[in-house]
Amino acid sequence: MNGDILFEIFTYMSFKALSQARLASRSLRDLATTILRRRWHAVLRAFVDNPLRFRTMLRLSRSVIAGSTALHMAVQGSELERGWFPRDMDVYTPMSASAGVVEHFTEVEGYHIVTQGLVDDPSRQSLSNGGMAIITTLRRGEDNVSVDVITAITNAPLAPITFSWSTLLMNYATADTLSLAYPRSTLAGQGLLNPARSQDAGVESCHLKYMARGFSFVPFSENGVVHSFTNPSPLYCPHTYRDFEDVGCLRMALDNMEDVVQPPQVFPLHFPRWKLGGGPCQARCRPGNAARYMSLMPFTR
Ligand SMILES: [Zn+2]
Repeated sequence: MNGDILFEIFTYMSFKALSQARLASRSLRDLATTILRRRWHAVLRAFVDNPLRFRTMLRLSRSVIAGSTALHMAVQGSELERGWFPRDMDVYTPMSASAGVVEHFTEVEGYHIVTQGLVDDPSRQSLSNGGMAIITTLRRGEDNVSVDVITAITNAPLAPITFSWSTLLMNYATADTLSLAYPRSTLAGQGLLNPARSQDAGVESCHLKYMARGFSFVPFSENGVVHSFTNPSPLYCPHTYRDFEDVGCLRMALDNMEDVVQPPQVFPLHFPRWKLGGGPCQARCRPGNAARYMSLMPFTR
């Protein structure tokens, strides 16, 4: 097939389809990676002038992007992308790198600090003892977008993400990869609700925000896409210990990794474990510890 036509077809493919196409051959893998890199830079350009420079900063500070920006990357090319674009970018940063990350936005990207301090957003308030220390909100000029730099209490920037109110937001992008903790439900547009966060103030309005974008939410105990009595699944069971390097996660390169110069200590140093908990599991999952893997995996789950 003509290369230009193939490129055009790939441009419209979903994350899931691209991850499957990558398996077919080296050339298709490179083509899929090129598409993902273009999408990654297109998203970043809404917030920063130079995506490559920004990615270098992410890499060196071992920071990650999560929230709606990472979710939007995951659903691009699918129906769930239509009609919305992230208006705020959440940057999760280790405590030791936080000041430098904020300075990057103010000194290099032209942002100014709007608010900085302890968490006062009701939807996040209960997380103040869940891994977040400080949130710095930044804006620039007349831009209709904002950036939240979320400083982790420790040097584990992923820790706050494990306390998310829904699995829909348990995704993150490093400078060079996108990882989804619950890929099957997330790519199907369904968020499983964290039982520990169900009563929190502000969570209800979070539901509405994402439901308006075409996503749906279910408790773990109900008949979901991935976890139910007829479909037991330890990786999607709230009683299984999970982490961002286990077999349940989908991780994909957003660039040709061979071209990326890695610092001596590559992100991430810390992989927090989580178990969402809640009432007894009605399925027959046999939860325990999910097995771990240490390499980039294709979409198989
Ligand atoms: Zn279960």
